[in-house]
Amino acid sequence: MDDELRERVRREAETAALFNALKHGSDAQVGAIMGPLMGENPDFRPHGDEIPGVVAPVIEDVNAMDREEKRERLAELAPERVEELDAEDDEDDQVLPDLPHADDYDEIRMRCAPNPNGPWHIGHARMPAVIGTYAEEYDGEFIVRFDDTDPETKRPLLWAYDEILEEIEYLGFEPAEVYRASDRLETYYEHARELIELGGAYTCSCPAGEFSELKNSGEACPHREKDIETVREEFAAMVDGKYDSGEMVLRVKTDIEHKNPALRDWVAFRIIDTPHPREEAEQYRCWPMLDFQSGVDDHLTGVTHIIRGIDLQDSAKRQQFVYDYFDWDYPEVIHWGHVQVDAYDVSMSTSTIRELIDAGDLDGWDDPRAPTLPSVQRRGIRGEAIVDAMVELGTSTSNVDLAMSSVYSNNRDLVDDEAPRQFFVRDGFDDRGSGADDAYAAIEVPVEGGPDSASPPVHPEHEDRGERDIPVADGVLIEEEDLPAVGERVWLKGYGPVRYDGERLAFLDADIDVVREEGVDVVHWVPADDNVEVRLRTMDGDVTGYAEPGFADVDADEVVQFVRVGFARCDRHDADESVAYYAHP
Ligand SMILES: [Zn+2]
Repeated sequence: MDDELRERVRREAETAALFNALKHGSDAQVGAIMGPLMGENPDFRPHGDEIPGVVAPVIEDVNAMDREEKRERLAELAPERVEELDAEDDEDDQVLPDLPHADDYDEIRMRCAPNPNGPWHIGHARMPAVIGTYAEEYDGEFIVRFDDTDPETKRPLLWAYDEILEEIEYLGFEPAEVYRASDRLETYYEHARELIELGGAYTCSCPAGEFSELKNSGEACPHREKDIETVREEFAAMVDGKYDSGEMVLRVKTDIEHKNPALRDWVAFRIIDTPHPREEAEQYRCWPMLDFQSGVDDHLTGVTHIIRGIDLQDSAKRQQFVYDYFDWDYPEVIHWGHVQVDAYDVSMSTSTIRELIDAGDLDGWDDPRAPTLPSVQRRGIRGEAIVDAMVELGTSTSNVDLAMSSVYSNNRDLVDDEAPRQFFVRDGFDDRGSGADDAYAAIEVPVEGGPDSASPPVHPEHEDRGERDIPVADGVLIEEEDLPAVGERVWLKGYGPVRYDGERLAFLDADIDVVREEGVDVVHWVPADDNVEVRLRTMDGDVTGYAEPGFADVDADEVVQFVRVGFARCDRHDADESVAYYAHP
């Protein structure tokens, strides 16, 4: 093989390796490159034995580059292939199945029915993500209904109503209608009265345990055959607050011998002594159970399709009895499995997160360690990144896992083009009880013989955004592990090559080829005298360190890429330090 051919093989292999690595987000492999390489270049084939030996070191170099370097290099070698990558990213792969019997309805209406007993954890995003996507696809309506009819055991938090609406907005959806069930008690009472007149409900004062025993053996309690007039009066007394909790309930008359005991004469209303936290509802003591309330509301608000957990299959069967009494058609139902989210130590449960906050183990709902939407939002992750990852999980009845890495990958695609680059040198780590051990130390090294400042681009792919101006003065801070051995060189990113003589970094006359051809490491740095102290809050703990001086001008809420560390959202600039939240690599 002559030199010219060898160079062409290298070039083709590098292009293919860069493209594959960027496309799949993983390391390129010799095996995966060889097939297409030989297929597309027939003149390589006679040299089949030698080619893997030429290709292997090329691939090794490619795999040592970070994503940004790969993109830059691919843009140099084959700009059209970068375009091809971007085009693939834009492809909208719709994975949600069609809604059942969608054609039977004039308008698709779906609801998200949160209990406002806390802000949302990440798993809660699945419902708005999926029904919001369906609403867009079918030009339908997205309804929010707060199922807040349990003032005691699932006590609503007053500020959670607006918080949840903000989270829906963060995810990118705007509900057409918003209801609070606690505003609608009179409507539920009216339907209860109607049901009583239809002979479909009776008041029952059996102690819960006794009723349960009778029910489990398929026997009716003595109250089942009460005349309608008595039931009417006793329900009115329930509404008027004449009973204490546990003294009286209203039951739906179903089938006391139904093969599924959970469906036998279930409770529709009960008395709760604790007042509701909302002023508008604090006078009520007679509260509907969720199955009654949501069943009535789904019909009255014109919901056509309901999505609910596979473990809630009894709900539709219970509500069907009420629908039959009223001669209503039950909406279409999709049951789906649970979603688990990886990457968190804290379990995805509103009550657990609340306990940890109350105990001081988490700083709040938006602590970076909390698996909540306020937390990922504070980290600079866009709602769209979560929605896309949730939609990709589909709606199957099996349990599914949401990998945070796919949320991160979606978000990277969204923020990468906008995020300015910044240097950040890590100096310390506070695990905040996580037990993680990441030791970082910044060291100060004098620099001699080079320019007074560096001017790396704000964004390597957008020259028009200009350059940063970073003074070097007499010295820099670099991370201890980036310090080369005595006599060795490094490339100070955006500045140039230097050699370490044991005390200082002496500027060299060399061009960027030494990085690729001689394996000189590129390291990030900040000026020793002019920098910004930063606390970078991560899921494992707080990384402390120094950002380049320009970080002082980054606005709160802006996302930057700390070179070789990752994307982070600037949270605030305090007097003694700036605070950023880590998003992802
Ligand atoms: Zn009874």
